[in-house]
Formats: sequence, structure tokens, C-alpha cells
Amino acid sequence: MSRARVKSTVVAVTLAVFAVTTAAQTPIVAPKNKYSPADDVKLGLGAAQQVEKELPVMRDPQVNNYLNAIGRRLVESIPAEFQHPEFRYSFTGVNLKEINAFALPGGPMFIYRGMIEKARNEGEIAGVMAHELSHVALRHGTAQQTKAAPYAIGQIAGQIAGAIIGGRTGAIIAQGSQFGIGTYFMKFSREYEKQADLLGSRTMAGAGYDPRDMANVFKTIQQESGPGGPQWMSDHPDPGNRYEYINREAQSLRVSPNPRRVTPEFQGVQSHLRTLSPAVSSEEVARNRNAGRTTDGGGAPPSSGNIPRPDSRYTTYNEGNLFRVSVPSNWRELASNNNVTFAPDGAYGSVNGSSVFTHGAEIGVSRNESHDLQTATEELIQSLRQGTPRLSNPDRYERASVGGRPGVHTVLSNISDATGGQEIIDVYTTQLSDGSLFYVLGVAPRDEYNSYANVFRRVVGSIQLAK
Ligand SMILES: [Zn+2]
Repeated sequence: MSRARVKSTVVAVTLAVFAVTTAAQTPIVAPKNKYSPADDVKLGLGAAQQVEKELPVMRDPQVNNYLNAIGRRLVESIPAEFQHPEFRYSFTGVNLKEINAFALPGGPMFIYRGMIEKARNEGEIAGVMAHELSHVALRHGTAQQTKAAPYAIGQIAGQIAGAIIGGRTGAIIAQGSQFGIGTYFMKFSREYEKQADLLGSRTMAGAGYDPRDMANVFKTIQQESGPGGPQWMSDHPDPGNRYEYINREAQSLRVSPNPRRVTPEFQGVQSHLRTLSPAVSSEEVARNRNAGRTTDGGGAPPSSGNIPRPDSRYTTYNEGNLFRVSVPSNWRELASNNNVTFAPDGAYGSVNGSSVFTHGAEIGVSRNESHDLQTATEELIQSLRQGTPRLSNPDRYERASVGGRPGVHTVLSNISDATGGQEIIDVYTTQLSDGSLFYVLGVAPRDEYNSYANVFRRVVGSIQLAK
């Protein structure tokens, strides 16, 4: 459970080949990628369409023209070796108050209104955008998929759409769309983060900005964190000494003596935003969306009647080439794009367009590279909480064996979206050999938990992991 488990492929690749213009600049080499740049474009456009449906994108020409002007300036300054002529860059404001931004493969970028409002100058907005743009130019989203190939069950495009629309399957459900997209494209390893910081610095300098403004805005994001911590920081973890190495890189670059900072356009857009009604939070959007939706998301809600007790006979399932598990024979296998749920009849269905279950277990993998097990588990719980505000904090973590490996176990409580009653969630996790987090979420109503806890233990005990 030490950091020695960290996967080092990307580091090795980075050190192996060089593409440097100035000796003092840190070399950057895009990671291995089995997809074509055209795949990036296709995947990104598909995902962007989902984003447009799920998030309150702004149709405000002043905001979007402003973002596009910054974006175009940055795109032109991406070093030639990382230019992809087929990429279709776009820069769109989102009417949400968090300091956040994200970019999808092949070019679509979304910048939250909170980002523009809280920035102290244009260089800070450009800093976040240059960082995001660098993930796109280095094709980190699909490179991550390349590494994750053994988990790719079904088509990648389907996974993304499913992740964005459906959120995670589970009692604890209704993950904001962010979590879904993040799982595939935006939750990056520290190696990728450092690459994006360095390429972002170079791009900024070329576009007339000071890369130190990127270092500054990361500090601002950290300080302005809302409940659950800043989403941006959890998607883009600090590789360590971020502020210092960006500033050091800036010294090796030709930075304009008069970098773009408080421009008239920047002041104009900020005062324009002050005339609009305030942006809402992501949580409010998720809540309103759920309230306005009927159960058209696929099936009836779980039944409120009696749920059959877990069979004492067990059936074994092979999940791709990832793991084997045995579950009570009267539980059905409900495969989703990025996880699998086993639940008895009547215990699963749809509430407000999200898949839910009231009894059973969800098993999946979450990519939390470069973390120790405990930190990765905490991050999993934190991301669950984004769509499940009433999920409790873990009291304590116990050691557990998961698939014969060292794991942790913790017990959470929640109010079920399906029944409105209290439910208990047994969380078991362990790390796979590539550092990603394997998890089992056992769910049962509080008054039935005592008998289910034994079932979850037996299910976890049956797991055999392939990697
Ligand atoms: Zn990043």
C-alpha cells in the first residue's frame, strides 16, 4: 500500500525519447496511444453532445466569443509536434458557479462561469484552458483508455455515453455527470498532469501569457474549494511541487515582458457576468434535473414489496478477463458499461432516470492511479458523495481481504433514493496491479443489514482477480 505500487510506464516512455527545443525545457512525449486522432475527434464530439444535454451550457455570445478568442490564441501556440490538424477545438461557457473546466478528446472544452468570475486576470483563465488543451493535444483521454484496455467491456463510445447519461449504477446512484466523464477522460494520473502543466506553460508563453498565472490559478482553485473539495483538483491531481516546477519551467521560456493579464476584454466579460442572474451550483442542477424527470430512464422503480432473501446456493460469474465472483443464485447480473450489479428481482429499477438498487452488490473498477489504497478509497467515497449528498462519512477503515489481497472495508449509511428509508453500504476495496481501485459496494436496508453483511462477506471472499 505504499506509493511504490505506482505504475511507471508513462515515466519510462517520457524518459526514453526526446523532443526538445531548448535544452532547459523539460522534454514532453505524448504517451502511447492505440487510437487514431480521428477516434479522439469522434469520441469527443459524441461526449460533447451529451454534455450539452446534461449541463447548462451558455448561449451568451459575449462569453463564448471571449473564451474562443483565448482558446484560438492558445491552440495556435501549441508546439508543432503536438498539433493535430483534424482536431475540432471549441470553447463553451457553462452556467455553473464552481471553478472548473474540462476538455474532451479531439477538442471540445467547457469552462464554468465560476472560473471566469473568480479569475484575477485573463492569464489565470488561459492557464486552466492551456492545461486542459494540453491533455487534448497529448491525447491523454484515449491514451488512458489504451492503458485500461482490459477493462473495456463493449464499445468505448457506448461507455462514455453511458457514463455521462446514466451516472453510476447503484443504490447510491445519480452521480453527477462529471463523475462519469471523469472516470474516462478527466481523471488523470500524476504523470499526465505534469505533462499537461509543462506543455500548458509552453503554450501559454507562446500565446503571450505568463505561465506563472497557471501556477497561481491552481492555488486559487485549492483555496476556493466547495464541499467535498474542488472537482478540478480531484480530476487533475497535483503531481507534487506543481507551483514550483511551473515557475521553474517559466524561467526557461520566452515570456512576454507584458503578458496578457487584465485586458479590456477580461474586464468587459467579468462586468457582463455581474449583470446576469447568479450561476447555480452543480448540485442544484442535478437536483432539479432529477425532480423534473419521470422514470423514463429504463424501467420501473424497485418494488416496495418483499424482496426474496439471498439464496444459500451461489452462482459463479466470469467478468471479462478481470475477475470471477460468486453471488446468491437468485441474484441477477445487471451489466453496465463500467461496472456490474448483482441484485434480486424487485430490488432494482429506475428512479428519476437513474438506475438504482436496494439490495445487492455493485462491483467495478475506478481509476485512481498513483494513490495508496486508503487515499484511493477515500476518493471513491468522495466521488460517490457528489451524487449522493446524504451518504455518511466513513467512521473507520478496517483491513479486509479482497480477492486474496490486502484490502480495506468501511461501512456507510445513506437515505435510499428508491425507498426513502435508511440503507447501509458496505464498501470493500483493493488495488489492482496497475494501481486502479477494485471495489465492491454491498447495499441493504438498515433493518436487513445484519443478514446481508454475511452475504457481502461471502461474495467478497469468492472474488478472484486476474490482475
Ligand atoms: Zn490535468
